[in-house]
Amino acid sequence: MLVNMRQILNNARNQKKAIAHFNINNLEWTKYILEEANKLNSPIILGVSESASKHMGGYETVYAIVKSLIKSLNITIDIVLHLDHGSSYSECVKAIDAGFTSVMIDASKHNLLDNIKVTKQVVDYAKQKNVSVEAEIGHIGGSEDGIEGQVLLADINDCIVFVKNTQIDCLAPAIGNAHGVYQGEPKLDFELLEQISKETNVPLVLHGGTGIKNSDIIRLIDKGITKININTELQISWSNSVREYINKNPDIYDPRKIIKSGEESLKKVVREKIELFENR
Ligand SMILES: [Zn+2]
Repeated sequence: MLVNMRQILNNARNQKKAIAHFNINNLEWTKYILEEANKLNSPIILGVSESASKHMGGYETVYAIVKSLIKSLNITIDIVLHLDHGSSYSECVKAIDAGFTSVMIDASKHNLLDNIKVTKQVVDYAKQKNVSVEAEIGHIGGSEDGIEGQVLLADINDCIVFVKNTQIDCLAPAIGNAHGVYQGEPKLDFELLEQISKETNVPLVLHGGTGIKNSDIIRLIDKGITKININTELQISWSNSVREYINKNPDIYDPRKIIKSGEESLKKVVREKIELFENR
């Protein structure tokens, strides 16, 4: 069933677990991820960036694909369809109107007051439609499009003011994490994370989960991370398998076989992440 993030994140927070957010890019990935999560009987969040949505034909198409797969594959777990890094109020409204059950408004490039203003506007619209909202504070390194950006840690007081004034459902604070592949060891501020979790009392989100040691992931969950975004790792594992398949089978041209050659490695990442985040 399609649900918003509120209940499943609060449940996870109470149980000191995290919910996996997997970014999707096409029909096949969506199918593989749904099948694997359903097998494990774990709720998941399907993240769709603005560019992935464009790639798939727009928000309405993405919604139709997810909704139809849930029905056709008899998926019984809770699924959240979430806009990842919505860049403006109008983009969030478009996704919500198309049927998305959750949105992230990323106005973190603005100053605190403007970030609050835009985020609050999205929350007001989302609440009427029973849609959950995630927002960002500070600057998470890297970018969804692979362009490097500066890391700027979230300020604890900004986080408190922000959550209080926006009434968001979950917060993505920059704690030294980065999108894409880390250059060297990630420098994560566990103390800051713990403080933000205590003071804001909302589920926290980790972007850029690829490349963080499993033992650190467990520690992050213990200190308040409740949603972990997985994007790059899916892309690397899928494309490595497909590349290997094409190299080994130069005569194959059936696109279904080519796309499917990455199925098992994609599902393996999904399985490993869910098991890790649920501390199984
Ligand atoms: Zn992100």
